[in-house]
Amino acid sequence: MPHIVARGAVVLAMLVAATGCSGSDSRPAPSAARVLFDEVLAKSSPGQWRSTGTDVVEVWVCHVPTGSTAKEYGGLPLRLALAPSPLAGLFQQQVSRYFDRVSHGAYTPSFVAGGEVSLALSDGSKECVESALAQASATAHVVLAVADAEQAPPAPGGVGSGGTVTPVRTAVASTRRYAYVGGADFDRATWGDNPPMDLVEHELGHTLGWVHSGVSSAGDYLSALDVMSNSAAPRDVNPDRRDAPDVLALHRVLAGWIPAADVVVADGAVTATLAPGNGVDGMRLLVLPVDAAHFLTVEFVPNDGYNDHLPRAGVAVHRVSVADGAVVDIEPLMGDAPFTALLQPGDAQVFDGWTVQVGPGGQVTATATATPT
Ligand SMILES: [Zn+2]
Repeated sequence: MPHIVARGAVVLAMLVAATGCSGSDSRPAPSAARVLFDEVLAKSSPGQWRSTGTDVVEVWVCHVPTGSTAKEYGGLPLRLALAPSPLAGLFQQQVSRYFDRVSHGAYTPSFVAGGEVSLALSDGSKECVESALAQASATAHVVLAVADAEQAPPAPGGVGSGGTVTPVRTAVASTRRYAYVGGADFDRATWGDNPPMDLVEHELGHTLGWVHSGVSSAGDYLSALDVMSNSAAPRDVNPDRRDAPDVLALHRVLAGWIPAADVVVADGAVTATLAPGNGVDGMRLLVLPVDAAHFLTVEFVPNDGYNDHLPRAGVAVHRVSVADGAVVDIEPLMGDAPFTALLQPGDAQVFDGWTVQVGPGGQVTATATATPT
């Protein structure tokens, strides 16, 4: 079994001995499994300009009037002195760096000041976003709107949309790509001049087409493994942290940051070397087919960089749901929330008919079992 060390990190050697379908196995034929993942790749490809190169993100501020009757502001009195230009400077310093680093330079949002919107008494985030979209400049690719009031629970802290996928990078007036956040993270009384950036990073993830992972039936974001789940997970461990967790390998594939050639799809016996999912090269994702609408992803997650809040590095397994070729849900499968009980050498666990075993020296074997769980 190969075992190599690169960049100071253990690189997992992965042997996959998939035996295909047996009589009691409900998995589809190998070709069908390959087709499902290929459908996902094909569906993601036209929109990858959103996560490649430079996006111009225009920053708008929506002023919520005193006495607003919009339910999402909940009658809360806080109003912040926010303006587009200082916010754009803040995001350029920190959020642009986050995406530049997690994409290894493939994607860099460029934040510019947009304008300001005065909401009517009954206006909420929808009217804020619509007004910003209507007034955005022709050079903007994304609108990021920030309210000067805080969102009142149970309203979410923000929203975001990947908009309409066009053939090439297109002005936001056509695509309607937007992110919106309430102002709570920009209250200087709480955060001084060092506010959290993770919520903005999460909502901008939606503008790249990413979906949530680790969301409970009650709508809570539970996973500490993904910017698209509990984006505040690093700060939950270290109050000084301001950025979100790192990005799942699957989202990197969807973004075009990991080429399809660096994904192993187990549609038969295969041997692969699995490098860190957030690394710059090597095989970074293993896909294990489950049925016509689901597959498992297996990746090695280091506990450094934006993931230094994780107690240990290890192997993460997620169940991915697909509809019409699009990823619609991602469910972490390692233990309970926050799903940081990553598989360690010596561990073996069954997921949806696959036994994933991590051996001595970081070797991992995935085999099809006779009785899917
Ligand atoms: Zn979200």
